[in-house]
Amino acid sequence: MKDQFGREISYLRLSITERCTLRCVYCRSEEGLCPKAAELTADQLIEVTRACAELGVNKVRVTGGEPLLRRDLIEIVAGIRAIPEIKDVSLTTNAQDLANQAAGLKTAGLDRINISMDSLDPDKFERMTNGNLMKVLEGIEKAIEVGLAPIKINCVLIKGTNDDEVRDFIEFTRDHPIDVRFIEYMPIGNDSEKVGINNQDILAAFPELEPVLSRYAGQPSRDYQIKGYQGRVGLISPISRRFCIDCNRIRMMSDGTLRACLGQESEVCLRPALDQGHEAIRDLIEKTIYNKPRGHNFGREHLNQRNMSRIGG
Ligand code: SAM
Repeated sequence: MKDQFGREISYLRLSITERCTLRCVYCRSEEGLCPKAAELTADQLIEVTRACAELGVNKVRVTGGEPLLRRDLIEIVAGIRAIPEIKDVSLTTNAQDLANQAAGLKTAGLDRINISMDSLDPDKFERMTNGNLMKVLEGIEKAIEVGLAPIKINCVLIKGTNDDEVRDFIEFTRDHPIDVRFIEYMPIGNDSEKVGINNQDILAAFPELEPVLSRYAGQPSRDYQIKGYQGRVGLISPISRRFCIDCNRIRMMSDGTLRACLGQESEVCLRPALDQGHEAIRDLIEKTIYNKPRGHNFGREHLNQRNMSRIGG
């Protein structure tokens, strides 16, 4: 369906938990998490997705927190896959446990995967995230092996922390059939403000990056490639080149809250509708989609109600 500004909403980002295995420096504080017991059940998540599908959603990304932490993840993915209108099911993960779970996810019907990897240096990776880079690389290998493709790497560049690795990340696409996407840091939910990198500066510094057509309609990145390299470089630039006018997404969080715009704090609680049944759920989602705000407020106000790890990115 279309929102009040005529945008067709076809993409649901479904956060299934706020719990996470990592502590990325720009993503989360430890306060205010939705406890495991308050997370929607697999059946409820699938029910909400079904209602979204009836309203025109055909693409779902499962996210978190860290989605691989949910014990019923396979059930969730298979349930979403079984909804006939849903044509694309993907997942965003920190990949710490991906090597163990990739095959099961593929069998359950997952199409593809995005992996967060903010440094190619094991020590820096650990400092930035508290995680293990080797596990990410093993997860990438396994995901390729089982056919979860195309794989995209998400990297958030923070000034003075990992912005010296842009060339290394671009070089990573030389021999890997993997897209690396630089996501501009969004000032959201953090106590300490970080300073991100302007993606347009990357373009200026690497004129060898040539524009290429996006793999999917409606994706937020502008894509580039160096001639002869296997992978691509995507720039997701909500700050330097906002794309709200083309935004096709809504977000559902693990506690049953809908957010129609990542960069606005207005939210709608679906919980009461979940008790009332399918029609009530669909009506509330329909209203939320219609009232989707025109655009984000990054830069005009600091959004501190929820961290990104609670919203799902
Ligand atoms: N745990 C999973 C992961 O690490 O990919 C999924 C959740 S994470 C919140 C989803 C994405 O949001 C990650 O790629 C992360 O880098 C990105 N992200 C988190 N905080 C961000 C921020 N303040 N600005 C831009 N991207 C952010």
